[in-house]
Amino acid sequence: MEYDVIVIGAGNAGLTAAATLAKKGVKTLLIEKHNIPGGCATSFCRGRFEFEVSLHQLSGMGTPERPGPLRSILDSVGVLDTLEFVQMDKLYRMVVPGLVDITLPANKEGIVSELQAKFPEEKDAIKKFFDFVWQFFMEVIGAFYLNDPDINKKKYPLYYKYALKDTQSVLNEYFTNPILKAVITPYWTYMGLPPSKLCFSDMAALLFSYAEFKPYHIKGGSQMLSNCLLETFYRNGGEALFNTEVQKLLVKNNSIYGVKTSDGAEFQSKYVLSNASAISTFVDMLDDDNVSGQVIEPYKGSSVGTSFFTIYCGLDCEYDKIGINEETNFICNTANPEYDYELSKVVDTDQSSFIVTCYNVFDNAMVPEGTSQVVLVTMKYADAWLKVPPAQYYDEKHRCAEAMLNNAEKVFPGLVSHIEEMEIATPITHMRYLNHPGGGAYGFDQYVKDSTLFISPKPPINGLYCAGSWYGSAGYQPTLTSGHSAAMAIVKDIRNK
Ligand SMILES: Cc1cc2nc3c(=O)[nH]c(=O)nc-3n(C[C@H](O)[C@H](O)[C@H](O)COP(=O)(O)OP(=O)(O)OC[C@H]3O[C@@H](n4cnc5c(N)ncnc54)[C@H](O)[C@@H]3O)c2cc1C
Repeated sequence: MEYDVIVIGAGNAGLTAAATLAKKGVKTLLIEKHNIPGGCATSFCRGRFEFEVSLHQLSGMGTPERPGPLRSILDSVGVLDTLEFVQMDKLYRMVVPGLVDITLPANKEGIVSELQAKFPEEKDAIKKFFDFVWQFFMEVIGAFYLNDPDINKKKYPLYYKYALKDTQSVLNEYFTNPILKAVITPYWTYMGLPPSKLCFSDMAALLFSYAEFKPYHIKGGSQMLSNCLLETFYRNGGEALFNTEVQKLLVKNNSIYGVKTSDGAEFQSKYVLSNASAISTFVDMLDDDNVSGQVIEPYKGSSVGTSFFTIYCGLDCEYDKIGINEETNFICNTANPEYDYELSKVVDTDQSSFIVTCYNVFDNAMVPEGTSQVVLVTMKYADAWLKVPPAQYYDEKHRCAEAMLNNAEKVFPGLVSHIEEMEIATPITHMRYLNHPGGGAYGFDQYVKDSTLFISPKPPINGLYCAGSWYGSAGYQPTLTSGHSAAMAIVKDIRNK
């Protein structure tokens, strides 16, 4: 069977690409290994609860009056009006028991005044830092996002000086108190690298974007987004195969001509867009060693990024009964992100910091009446988990869950006694459901050297395009954007021919 485009993988990027292509009248086949659409953006049911797998805070939405970049993309794909979005008014609560307990609102002035009240000795530096972050990010928008053709050092002095610096050294320029530095940067976990390794542009993007465009939640969870994208795709004539794994890319004379699936079927197309991991796409799916070697060259310095250890809890009580007041809570064991990052490389969770998200703080429809959905998540690389003997896996994941729940009890007493349903996911779970090496939810480690600033997401094979977290920034906004951009590049190429 012949198609204009075949899309491999129905994650955020694959679905957005497929929906965009179909809307443009391009005959598209979407092939997904799992039995539901979404990749990370899915939900699953246990008892009377439907659990959100991944989305904590959606970035880049903005309001209808002041739209963020994501709102315009969802609008152009045709799903904006079918979905309901809930705006959060807080960024997060951060607790280091015995050291600090602070909640930051989702606006710059509020953040500054909360921090100044808690850290009066660094009052001036706090104001200066946030003014600087905003000024810096306005330069990033002009120089990078708006692609100013006349970019120079005089016009964008902060961009030139700080864009590639690490977050820690910029924090050190402004602040002395390590607790204050930690309180400003827990979003490093949304990128998977601690402040000493995380590019300052990324940290500035997180702070600016969540404060200006606000964190959002999708009513009904991320599965609603995935379902809507799939429905739009079908409505515009798209075809999809689920429970089907693409095993090989068919390439001749450095040009794609189709894919082969694990059941031996072949589908022809001059364009293939892969949302599968870069390792599956370039190493497993490509047969010819020369082609494969040439394609993976830019990724030789990259390392497989972090996955997660997650406890999904359905509680038989309202969230405020156990002291939860905010949707997003960073519960940290220390005010030292570098130490927390090192702990992501071991199986044990007794010292790990973690995020506690309570979904029904903003969306009552997420749970049956009188109950709550609480998810605890901590970063974990897969390597240590892969060394756990299969016979011990079940006990290990329950031992680690118990340790993390005990630490959560210190902040939310009564949590454990109210658990009605519980499911635990490890990096091995993410490997299985996403088909990604190491269960990498953010793709490769998000070093700036591996970003689209330096590596093109378009591999050097005619007709092959890639999109998703393995080919640029991870997270909802970036992967939805990358799917849309890759689809538009294909449409342009088809039209030019
Ligand atoms: C626990 C958790 C919490 C998160 N929290 C947030 C958050 O709050 N905010 C945020 O912005 N981001 C968050 N993220 C990150 C975000 O979910 C991901 O970066 C994003 O969803 C990845 O999208 P993707 O397009 O790269 O596709 P993926 O979700 O990686 O999906 C890829 C798809 O390809 C399919 N596939 C793979 N190989 C094949 C094959 N050979 N054949 C057919 N199909 C194949 C897979 O089955 C999968 O469906 C979180 C992630 C996790 C796991």
